[in-house]
Amino acid sequence: MTTQTPTGPEAADLAVRLAEIERLVRYGPHEALDRSRELLATDALSPDDVAYQRLLLAKASAQARIGETADGGRLMREVKAWAEERGESELLAMAHRRLSTLFRRIGDPALMLEHAVAAVELLDADTAVELRGDHLLGLADALGAGGEFDSSLRRYAEAAELANAGDDQYLRNAVLNNLAYTQYEAGLADEAVATAERLLQQLAAAGQPLMSHNADTVARAYMAVGRYDDAAAAVEPLCAVPERGEDCDGLVMALLTLAEAKRLALDLRAANAALDRAVGLIDQYALDGVRSEAMRERAELLAAEGEYQAAYAEFKAFHDADVQLRALERDGRARTLAAVFEATEAQRSRDFFRELSVRDPLTGLHNRRHLDAILAELLDPVGGADVLTVAIVDLDHFKRVNDTFSHAVGDTVLQKVAGLLADVALLDDGGVAARLGGEEFVLVLPGVSGLTAARRADALRRTIGTHPWHRVAAGLSVTTSIGVASFPADGSTTHELLAVADHNLYRAKRAGRDRVVSGG
Ligand code: GH3
Ligand code: MG
Ligand code: MG
Repeated sequence: MTTQTPTGPEAADLAVRLAEIERLVRYGPHEALDRSRELLATDALSPDDVAYQRLLLAKASAQARIGETADGGRLMREVKAWAEERGESELLAMAHRRLSTLFRRIGDPALMLEHAVAAVELLDADTAVELRGDHLLGLADALGAGGEFDSSLRRYAEAAELANAGDDQYLRNAVLNNLAYTQYEAGLADEAVATAERLLQQLAAAGQPLMSHNADTVARAYMAVGRYDDAAAAVEPLCAVPERGEDCDGLVMALLTLAEAKRLALDLRAANAALDRAVGLIDQYALDGVRSEAMRERAELLAAEGEYQAAYAEFKAFHDADVQLRALERDGRARTLAAVFEATEAQRSRDFFRELSVRDPLTGLHNRRHLDAILAELLDPVGGADVLTVAIVDLDHFKRVNDTFSHAVGDTVLQKVAGLLADVALLDDGGVAARLGGEEFVLVLPGVSGLTAARRADALRRTIGTHPWHRVAAGLSVTTSIGVASFPADGSTTHELLAVADHNLYRAKRAGRDRVVSGG
């Protein structure tokens, strides 16, 4: 049994097998997965070896490619943590690169970019040019996915240079493919065609067949410039290949693209034939992810045939199916993210969302829902506060502010008042400022009651009244009326306290506004 990184002929053999598996991840993920499992099951490598961790990473990527996204992502994070701990920067960069691709799959351009940048930052002069090129390719893809086309195109140029200097045919193809696709997405149709044709030449020179994503890119570029026959010709060879069971996503994609190109070329018979075959496969293998795509193409075809009523019905069906699919995808995405981020990030985003759900978006104060929860805790006979005060703060004639100035000025006033309330709340341990809704706020002051409470409320009223509102808008002034209630003197439940405070507010308004009323 070996516990150290092996050396000698055995190591050379291992390195070859590892490189082969890493390459296979892109062409045959199922086989890559089988082989990595096989190699991991032997005792040729120990978990302390960098090679073992690379193998895990390859396995994780293969898993992500065949739809086991959550498991793959989790494993990637484990390798990333291992690499961080050991200071293995090349492995760490690879883990970031894989995570970036994973987030493309999940459809999260922000995280995709974050990991792509992290990968590139870890590069140094010792990094092999192919690897440097691959990391730059990942960055270019991520920038393009986020709509940053200019910087994306610059990175593709750098990646192309490195790819051409190196010896990795797959990388060279991938750079051209993704560049053409990004140009197409950026609306640079002519450039996309030029790049697509370079890709075709490069593949032909290397004697390689078009892979389905290559054919799709080339066809999209041609369609964008109206060369529909060329587009059809690009995908036709793939469509001629007989299907090989469940693994026919590429074939269905090619058929749908062919149907579109034939329709645009006004060969509706060929378009229908391609679409019928695609739909047959979708039904047979339950490929629900592309079903709505097929429905849309059917609707377009019916419209092209002048069957407007049927086209409309199909468009509607497409729309419903699409909405459902997006919802499913969102669900799936959320589940995958949760699984991948079980550790710290999950906590961070959970805190973030929890925070969002308890905050009022305009002012950032606690919202009504959260206020209820806070008061329930403070009024709990066990472990709650001995005394506390609630004050409802309502702006006087606020409708006039909106009417005389503008709704935007009104919003600014609400935000400023919220800030002044938050300042007062901060003075007390556990003080809380919340927005009840509209122009009504609540201040909760634990440990404060009676005269002190009334004094504090009046100080707040004066602070708001004397604020330099003319700086917000010339001629603007803001006053408030405040109703106060204290526990336990005026009530012992949230409902009772708010009712008394509200009644006191009403009295303050009736008495002429710009004042505080407290007591039962
Ligand atoms: P009163 O002194 O009796 O309280 O008079 P008022 O005009 O303040 O009271 P009323 O409740 O009749 O009107 C409240 C106004 O607050 C109505 C609405 O236009 C405005 N308002 C509510 N929410 C918002 C908001 O989010 N932004 C802005 N700008 N105005 C809001
Ligand atoms: Mg008001
Ligand atoms: Mg009001």
